[in-house]
Order: sequence, then C-alpha cells, then structure tokens
Amino acid sequence: ATAVAASIEEPITPPVKVKYTQLLIDGRFVDSASGKKFKTYDPRTGDVITEVAEGDAEDINRAVSAARKAFDEGPWPRMTAYERSKILLRFADLLEQHTEELAALESWDNGKPYEQAAKIELGFSTRLARYYAGWADKIHGLTVPADGAHHVQTLHEPIGVAGQIIPWNCPILMFVWKVGPALACGNTIVVKTAEQTPLTAFSVAKLLHEAGLPDGVVNVVSGYGPTAGAALASHMNVDKLAFTGSTGTGKLILEMAAKSNLKPVTLELGGKSPFIVCKDADIDDAVEQAHFALFYNQSSSSNPCDLMMVDAIRCYETSTSLSQGQACCAGSRTYVHESVYDEFVEKAKARAIKRVVGDPFRKDVEQGPQVDSEQFEKVMRYIRSGVESGARLETGGERLGSKGYYIRPTVFSDVKEDMLIAQDEIFGPVQTIFKFKDLEEVARKANASKYGLAAAVFTKDIDTANTLSRALRVGTVWVNCYHIVDAAIPFGGYKMSGHGREKGIYSLNNYLQVKAVVTPLKNP
Ligand code: ADP
Repeated sequence: ATAVAASIEEPITPPVKVKYTQLLIDGRFVDSASGKKFKTYDPRTGDVITEVAEGDAEDINRAVSAARKAFDEGPWPRMTAYERSKILLRFADLLEQHTEELAALESWDNGKPYEQAAKIELGFSTRLARYYAGWADKIHGLTVPADGAHHVQTLHEPIGVAGQIIPWNCPILMFVWKVGPALACGNTIVVKTAEQTPLTAFSVAKLLHEAGLPDGVVNVVSGYGPTAGAALASHMNVDKLAFTGSTGTGKLILEMAAKSNLKPVTLELGGKSPFIVCKDADIDDAVEQAHFALFYNQSSSSNPCDLMMVDAIRCYETSTSLSQGQACCAGSRTYVHESVYDEFVEKAKARAIKRVVGDPFRKDVEQGPQVDSEQFEKVMRYIRSGVESGARLETGGERLGSKGYYIRPTVFSDVKEDMLIAQDEIFGPVQTIFKFKDLEEVARKANASKYGLAAAVFTKDIDTANTLSRALRVGTVWVNCYHIVDAAIPFGGYKMSGHGREKGIYSLNNYLQVKAVVTPLKNP
C-alpha cells in the first residue's frame, strides 16, 4: 500500500508522446477555423498534458461538408461491401499493433489503469472492428410477397452523414463502437469527442486512414458540447445522430435534432442499475461481482476482469473509465436480502478496503484517479450528501493523496430509496447497499428509477432468476455475472437511459434506410 501511495505523489512518466492535436477533416489534420485551442489535463496531477484544437460551429460545418462530399461523390458508399470489410479488418490489425501506444495515451488522458486500457478497451475495440467488418458484406434487403401483380423488394441503403457525440469514460472504445456499424453500412461520419479526453480519437482515426479509409469518410472534431456538439446535433446536413452521455444532455440533443431537420437519434444515457443479491446467492461471488460491477472503470484487474481479458471481448464498461466507477451501466444500487445482509456488507467493505488505488501506469493498480476536477468534486459532493442523509459510511469517503483526483473506494450501507445517493448517477467509486425482504418488494424498488439501463440478479434458483429477469425494466439483465458486453449482444436502455440499441445486429438498423421498390409484373 505504501508503494501505491508513493506512486500517487510521484507520477510515473507515461511511455508515450502526444502526436496529434489538430482536427481531422477530409483526411488532413488542421487547426480550428478560429485558431483557438483548449487544454487537456492529466488526472493524476491536474497538470496540462497538451493543448488541442478547439473546434466549434465553423469546424463542424467544414467536417460535415467533407462527410457530405465523401458520401455524395466519394468511393466509400460505392465500393463493394467486401472492400469496406477489408479496410475494417486492416484497421483492426492496426489497432492490435498499436495497442501499447494507444492504451498509454488513453490512460494518461483519462486516468484508467493502463492494463485495463490495453487489455479491455483496446481488446474490445479490436474485436468490435472485426465484428463490424464481418457485417459489411452481409447487409441486404428482402423480396416481399405483396398482394397484387407486383415485384416488391427492399433496398437497405446507408442513411448518409452520421453525427456521433461521444463521452470521456471509454474514449477509444466509444469511438470504435460508434463508427463501426456506421462504416459497415457505408455511411460517412463526423465524430465530436469529449473535451476531457480528446487525444486518442485522432490517433485511432489516423489508423483508419492508414487502413485505406478514403478521405472525408471519418472526420474528428474536438471541442466543447454547447459549441461543437450543439452545432453537430442541430446541423441541417447531418442525417443521423448517435449520442452517448448524460441524460440531461440527451434531452438537449433530442430537442436540437427535432428543431433542425428531424434527424433520427440514438441515445445511450445514464443508469442507476440495481444489483440484486438473493438469499440463496453464492455470497463470496456476489460480493466480488458487486464490487466489480460498481468500481469497474475505477478500476482494474480483479479476477472477473482477468477472466474477461482472456478473450478480450467483453466488458466495455469494464475497460475504461469504468475502473473508477465511471461506467454508465455500473451496478450502483446493491440490493441484498436481509438474511445475508450483514455478512454481505462486512465482506463488501473488506473488499473495498483491499482495492488498490494508485498511478494508472503501475502494474498492480485496480483504480486510478477520476477523470477531472469536476467529476472529482461531484463525487465528493455525493459522498457528503450520503453522510448527511444518514447512510452509514462503512469505508472510504475521502480523497487519496495530495494531488490529482484519487478517491478512496467508498461503501455506504443502510441506504434508503429517498436519499440522493440512491437516485442520482454518481459515476464514481461509491457503492450503496440496500436491504430487502422479498422479491416483489425488490423488483418494485429496482424499477422505481427514472433509469433502466441494466440490472443483475444473483441467485441459484432458476425461478427467481426468471421472475426477476422478466420483472426488471432494463435493457440488459445479467444473471450471476456483470459487465458481460460482447460485440454481438445489444446494449441500450429503457426509460431515461436512452433510445435504441447499439452493438449486435440491432446496431445496423440505426445506420440504414429501407427503400421499398415496387415494379409491376407484366406476366405474373
Ligand atoms: P458527461 O457528464 O459524461 O460529461 P455529457 O453529456 O456532458 O456527459 O457529455 C457527453 C458528450 O456530450 C461530450 O462529448 C460533450 O462535449 C457533449 N455535450 C455536452 N453538452 C452538449 C450540448 N449542449 N450539445 C451537444 N453536445 C454536448
């Protein structure tokens, strides 16, 4: 523990240099039209890493024009699907070859443990690139047996220019997760990265070009939400918008899309996912998984994580900023049956105390710093609110070290539904534990949230698992596991956790138009 504390005071020099800091428009790195730049910070120290071009409405216009031209006149939507597939496969190979450099840059800008960035975030991004490469040449319409003497077919066409706004918790993964299905379907794209973590998308997009992507197909604009992000969401020449971020911003995005050109929108928003431990659950397993479910992306390479890394497919939330509890599908409401409650709380507390927090470039670290001062302050405010509202602080609750944004893993027990920490998405290393008596009660309480992203049920009883899986109004139910997020498994939310599904076969519909073509049959 001493070595880890020392690593907070004396940060390790990142084994990577920043190469690209300009907007990527039409295949070239360029300054912003205004010449403005903004700073991106090292969450371990609060020091400036570098300055990056600050894109705003004018740059979004330039990027959308490039994407429009690449869609209307360029080779991308016209080349064979097999050619597109091969470019995505080459891109996956390049991601694999550049894993160390990209993971180091990601850790530096975001604060997540390097091991997590390399194994989980890069591993899963590579897997996603190959997954979507596989779809590119398998997208086709139907022949429809309509009434009457007509030949009817549907063409599945790319939708056009896609705008994609991504968050800071898993910058590389979110980038690939968003561009993958759009590219497989033949669209062109403008990505607006998160202002907290602008660095890695430039390098990843550069690799796409090295893989043979034509100029203008993927454009990357770094900048702030209310300027660059809003310009993209409101743009009249953007045909589709995909957003991952907070529910509050999601509402603004939907409004901007409606007020401009009614572009269809997919939203992947916040969560407050219940993790239900029934009386017959394997308690030690449930403790470890509940810990992982919440602290992941605050974190690290605990056992379940290692398992996932074996095939490096799973755990999108796992990988990234998840280790600092910065995962939208974090298991952030832990419901424990009264008969095992005391044992669970004791063990959950012991596990949190054992959690290794330190410099993300140290090998054995499970949890790095929160991404920036704003997130750090927000999490600390929630911790204070938990204490003030009468929840029992079992461990943690304070800053770790004298610089950067490290927070000691925190566990609250005796949490009640009306507390703020029970309702809001904290997005930090704060586990909240509730007690329940019966299944009907826990299902009702689990559903009494504006969110509906994910849930977990820990039980050995198949009937309990089935009953709760059907009762929970969420986009994913994990039974006796958590954060299993495969390329083929659809992901998305009920209620205010979002609209639509990403990943898997479902993600393709977001990027396709269906055209019905009807031809009279002369000799039916
Ligand atoms: P978080 O709380 O995770 O930072 P946000 O929703 O604020 O979530 O940010 C997610 C993404 O949305 C970022 O790329 C951010 O710049 C962008 N964003 C924030 N505000 C707006 C806005 N008003 N319009 C468009 N995009 C925005």
